[in-house]
Amino acid sequence: AREMIRRSEKLTMAGELAAGIAHEIRNPLTAIKGFIQLMKERMPVSYYDIILAEIGRIELITGELLMLSKPQAVEYQPTYVPVILDHVVTLLESEAIMHDVQIVRSYEGPSLQVSCDPNQLKQVFINMVKNSIEAMPTGGTITIEAKADRSDIVIVVRDEGVGISEDKIRMLGQPFYTTKEKGTGLGMMVSLNIVENHGGRVNVTSEPGLGTEIRVFLPSCLAS
Ligand code: ADP
Ligand code: MG
Repeated sequence: AREMIRRSEKLTMAGELAAGIAHEIRNPLTAIKGFIQLMKERMPVSYYDIILAEIGRIELITGELLMLSKPQAVEYQPTYVPVILDHVVTLLESEAIMHDVQIVRSYEGPSLQVSCDPNQLKQVFINMVKNSIEAMPTGGTITIEAKADRSDIVIVVRDEGVGISEDKIRMLGQPFYTTKEKGTGLGMMVSLNIVENHGGRVNVTSEPGLGTEIRVFLPSCLAS
C-alpha cells in the first residue's frame, strides 16, 4: 500500500530570518572568493581546492535559503505550465543523461494555465526532478505529467528511485533534512513554501525500492 501525505506549512519567521542572514553572507563571500582566486599562484593547490570547495558549499546553502525571502517584485502572470516544465527538462537534460535517466513528458489538455511567478515555479520543479535523478543511482525513467483536475492543474513528478519510507515522508520539507552526503536538505522546504505561496499544495507518495510520486496542485487560471 502506498502512503500519502499532504504538506502545507507556512513560511516561519525563522525561515525569513535565515534568508536575511544568507543575503548578508553573500556579499562578503563574493569578495573573499575573488581574493582567494587572485592568490591561487601563491597557495598550495590542495589548500586552494579545499577553500574553493567550502566556499562553493556556502554558496549552495545561502542560494537555497535566499529562495525563502519574498522576491522584491513577485511577478504573478498567467503561465502555460508545459512551458515551465519543458524549460526545467532542458536545464537538467545533460545531468539526466549522465545518470542514465530518461525523462518522459505527458501534457493533457489545452488549458494548463496557472497564475504564477514563472522563475519561482521553475525552481520547484528543478528541485523535484533533481531529487528524482539523485534517487536513481543506476538510472531509470522520470515521468512528468501535467493535467487539469477539477479547479486545479496537477503536475506529477514520478521516478523509479530508492523511494522514501513511510516515517521519513513527513520529514520532507524540514530544514536540513537530508540523506545525502552532499545534500543541503533545503530544496524541498523551499519548494513547499513556493507552492504554498501560490495557493497550492503538494502530495508525496512513495514505496521504498520502487519509487516516488510527487503531485503538485496549483489553482487553475480558469478557476479564478
Ligand atoms: P537534498 O536533496 O539536498 O537532500 P531535499 O530537501 O531536496 O534536500 O530533499 C530532502 C530528502 O528527501 C533527500 O535527502 C531524500 O532523502 C528525500 N527525497 C526527496 N525527493 C526524493 C525522491 N524523489 N526519492 C527519494 N528520496 C527523496
Ligand atoms: Mg534536493
